[in-house]
Amino acid sequence: MPTDLEKGLEEALARRQADGLYRRRVTLESPQGAEVVVAGRKRVNFCSNDYLGLAAHPEVVRAWQRGAERYGVGSGASHLVCGHMTPHRALEEELAEFTGRPRALLFSSGYQANLGVVTALAGRGDWVLEDRLNHASLLDGARLAGARLKRFPHGDAAALETLPHRARLIATDGVFSMDGDLAPLPQLAQRCRDHACWLYVDDAHGFGVLGEKGAGILEHFRLGRSDVPILMATLGKALGVCGAFVAGGDALIETLIQQARTYIYTTALPPAAAEAIRASLRLVRKEKWRREHLEALIARFRAGADALGFSLSPSQTPIQPLILGSSRRAWEVSRKLRERGFWVAAIRPPTVPAGTARLRITLTAAHTETQVDGLLDALARSL
Ligand SMILES: *Cc1c(COP(=O)(O)O)cnc(C)c1O
Repeated sequence: MPTDLEKGLEEALARRQADGLYRRRVTLESPQGAEVVVAGRKRVNFCSNDYLGLAAHPEVVRAWQRGAERYGVGSGASHLVCGHMTPHRALEEELAEFTGRPRALLFSSGYQANLGVVTALAGRGDWVLEDRLNHASLLDGARLAGARLKRFPHGDAAALETLPHRARLIATDGVFSMDGDLAPLPQLAQRCRDHACWLYVDDAHGFGVLGEKGAGILEHFRLGRSDVPILMATLGKALGVCGAFVAGGDALIETLIQQARTYIYTTALPPAAAEAIRASLRLVRKEKWRREHLEALIARFRAGADALGFSLSPSQTPIQPLILGSSRRAWEVSRKLRERGFWVAAIRPPTVPAGTARLRITLTAAHTETQVDGLLDALARSL
């Protein structure tokens, strides 16, 4: 690259650093879990999305190994060429059954699923309405579709009393990834019925966690396919593996197979990954104690934080943000926690709105009560 171009990049990076917005990666030397090893030191991990503690579960690992022995490690092609294999098909059938929908379609990631669905269903001139705090991939989907994107105030179904002519899609996160609160789905479903447009829910953080069976936010609100025709969830968070799926009716799924470019033009997930996800789904269904333990930890953390006078956001999910304001302060508190052996991510703009930098504390079923109490104590000393 010509040196003047390099120089421009270096200057922009230096500005980012001066603004406290520079992002750095940390390397884990252990499997994912409540305790991880970083730079040779153990840390209690309060920033992963492995909400049920399944990412390194022995049964899931074994399913991956057996899957690799039986089907190899690579899928070899996209689903429409020759990469669609028995494990993918079985997993799709199980996901459809679990979510109570006619069909499910696997994507290689949640990011791709969101781009694929929005671009397949909305085109130039169509309106797509999205919650202001939606995940980047839903917003990017609308931009890529060339649709007219309108972002409505967070969680405000009343703002959708009147919808633009040609409103195609209302898309929302189910559980908001940086706030942990829930979208007002019953109200949004009503708006969509009134205006004959699709409601699309991204349940990345609810699937496996919410609802009696762990089927996610729709089970929590007791909503069905007539309320939310398009359900998407990811398989790399509570399910602990990777990938995503969309569940809905036959015509919806066939349309995605024909038109979703992020489905058509990408290599299918490794078949062994699909086998691991199937094992993980069995644990989600069988081991209800994971959700119960997680719920008890959330209650314990909130009661403890309250007693210490922290002002937590009103979230009943494993995502418990502590909003600190400036990026510098969030980073500083995160650093102090790290010195005390706790890993909590500082989330800064542009991931969250300016002035709302925060600690994004996530609890998982792998944590113990002692670890949660330890975090509260470390927070009291670090704030
Ligand atoms: C993580 C996440 C995604 C992206 O899923 P990946 O499988 O990680 O690509 C999409 N939507 C939401 C709300 C998420 O939190």
